Amino acid sequence: MDRRQTIPAHLRLTLQDFLDRFPNDDACLEFLKEKRYPNGVAHCEKCGVVRKHHRVTGRPAYACDSCGSMISPMAGTIFEHSSTSLRKWFYAMYLMGSTRCGISAKQIQRETGVTYKTAWRMFRQIRSLLSEPDMQLEGTTVEMDETYVGGRRHRKYQARRGRPSPNDPSKTCVVGAVERKGRVFACVADDATKATFHGVARERILPESVIFTDEHHSYTGLKEMGYTHQRIQHSQGVYVLGNVHTNTIEGFWSLVKRGIAGVYHNVSRKYLQTYLDEYSFRYNRRDQGNLIFTSILERVCERAV
Ligand SMILES: [Zn+2]
Repeated sequence: MDRRQTIPAHLRLTLQDFLDRFPNDDACLEFLKEKRYPNGVAHCEKCGVVRKHHRVTGRPAYACDSCGSMISPMAGTIFEHSSTSLRKWFYAMYLMGSTRCGISAKQIQRETGVTYKTAWRMFRQIRSLLSEPDMQLEGTTVEMDETYVGGRRHRKYQARRGRPSPNDPSKTCVVGAVERKGRVFACVADDATKATFHGVARERILPESVIFTDEHHSYTGLKEMGYTHQRIQHSQGVYVLGNVHTNTIEGFWSLVKRGIAGVYHNVSRKYLQTYLDEYSFRYNRRDQGNLIFTSILERVCERAV
């Protein structure tokens, strides 16, 4: 099933739309200019005031209408020192924003002709911009859960909510929280201790929220922190009891795991956080159809230095 067909028209950017809108590098540059300097109006260092700028023929730059000094919309962005064309960058971001499960560097290599190494580096750079280090969940009904990512491809039998042995070094503990019908947050955890889980709750979840978790012992004490804590007894085969469940966050975990297993095959611990950031970024903008592409571009501009 092609999920894109379910995207409402105003949130849809088909591949054909993308190709029409960005036929060449110039169109991409113009788009970037409008994002960073709407109508070409930008501060001119030399004049010391805000001025209108115009496109310089033959160069990826815009010049001040008054003094001619030049600025580039790529300055300070991940595009600046890249020899890869702007359009290929845009296309990589388009693909990233159009999938649910992720997109592989291999696919970009196949479709654009850049080397695998370049494709991989592009994705890594884009991903590195998608983090939300200061994000705090605003909903007051939150599910919190931990999971283990990575490890051997051979799947030993596990209970549905089975926990691998914590000393399995090939698995990385990830802890996350999600607002019901809202946003998600997920991070790589050093361990599955109370201190770690409580720390995540304190940083990300509003005081006095209702938190749903399973029976993992490291959630004990959330009540003492001022939360209303409700647990679901997975070990007793109970998964939903009224509104007490952790199905939302588990849905997110399965999305991440399916992506990592199916698209990326494996992700080292070192880069796992950036993958979590990518999945969270998309999940938190799932009502934007595949215009997530433009959110990614906006992020690139916001993080320009
Ligand atoms: Zn000027």
